[in-house]
Amino acid sequence: MNPLTAALEPLFAQLQPRLVEIYQDLHQHPELSMQEQRTAGIAADHLQRLGYVVTRGVGGTGVVGLLRNGDGPTVMLRADMDALPMAEQTGLPYASTATATDGDGDGRTVGVAHSCGHDLHVTWLMGAAQVLAAARDAWRGTLMVVFQPGEETAQGANAMIADWERLGLPRAEVVLGQHVMVGAAGTVSYRPGVILSAADSLKVTLFGRGSHGSQPQTAVDPVVMAAATVMRLQTIVSREVAPLDSAVLTIGALQAGTKENIIPDDATLKLNMRTYDEAVRTHMLQAIRRICCAECDASGAPRPPEFTTLSSYPMTDNDHDATARVAAAFHAQFGDNALQSKPMSASEDFSVFGRTWGVPYVFWFVGGTDPRAYAKARAEGTLNTLPSNHSPRFAPVLEPTLKTGLQAMLSAAAAWLCAPPEGTRDGNA
Ligand code: ZN
Ligand code: ZN
Repeated sequence: MNPLTAALEPLFAQLQPRLVEIYQDLHQHPELSMQEQRTAGIAADHLQRLGYVVTRGVGGTGVVGLLRNGDGPTVMLRADMDALPMAEQTGLPYASTATATDGDGDGRTVGVAHSCGHDLHVTWLMGAAQVLAAARDAWRGTLMVVFQPGEETAQGANAMIADWERLGLPRAEVVLGQHVMVGAAGTVSYRPGVILSAADSLKVTLFGRGSHGSQPQTAVDPVVMAAATVMRLQTIVSREVAPLDSAVLTIGALQAGTKENIIPDDATLKLNMRTYDEAVRTHMLQAIRRICCAECDASGAPRPPEFTTLSSYPMTDNDHDATARVAAAFHAQFGDNALQSKPMSASEDFSVFGRTWGVPYVFWFVGGTDPRAYAKARAEGTLNTLPSNHSPRFAPVLEPTLKTGLQAMLSAAAAWLCAPPEGTRDGNA
């Protein structure tokens, strides 16, 4: 235990019912990316009541709360707030029935659900903010609590950063964040170095020349061009990436034409790529362009393809020293329930803050699966059937996940806010 999780103990019994209420309310009122007005208002009002200096509307709906408490490092704790455009199928009594107009521009009405657990992230951070405000004697420094919009669309962190200087907000010396994931509830997992992949999504438009389906000699067929391109793109991972460097390239959408006897004018591919190494990422982005351009040339396309970046998430590459500090705090707090994680092929915009400021950041996972269900699935070799993030059946168990996430956030924060001043630590002055 550290001074902050020690402060949590006597408070938790009183805090827990209120946090469950907040969580279930957020869960029933999910909001799509960059539309998190209600959620942001709840978080900001909470911070204001606790005595934080609160800045609202940072990069859209983002909220920054500052609590200055003497000399010491500025430590940032971050939670993302957005939900996903999908209908919930958990069957929980507090399941979301919300709908909204999807932000992709075609005006569709979609279900909205917290299927990535960001409602829990907000709840954890509100709870941690409350403990830190109540236990000011236990720490020194400046606490910066950040509620971020638009993680699922890779917009939010960049939007907040774009507003940061103008609003006169300070930079943090270390940035800390956590995500609920499939894993036994009660466990936390960390990893020095890369923990989450980079993700790049592109739209590629291939131009042909449309004509009657009976007269292919008068056309440049974009369907054939697209088919060849899709097959050739598969050779990037299998033939151009070294066996020990892993990567993913998925073409998730391929659209062309309307009718069987019309050769259309163009075809569109939408692809997503995951990488764990900057050099591999750069190579693959270049290879995608090279192959698309060359396939269009091979078909005699009237003009080169057009590339549009749909989203781009940097790698989450945890600082080694800062992660060692968090890991020590986790082992002291959780013992055998502090685990080492493998790199995951999911992506986050969390690292944008640390990257922009050139400061260390640490991101870790908190297990949210019922421990008995997890142990059973592990024994049966069916871990991949447990509902994961972005599944309509994703439903983290609240006990003990709620408390574990609070303890994890507080333990990591304590590694800076409760540490002896630099130079006196470990006697290595
Ligand atoms: Zn997600
Ligand atoms: Zn998420």
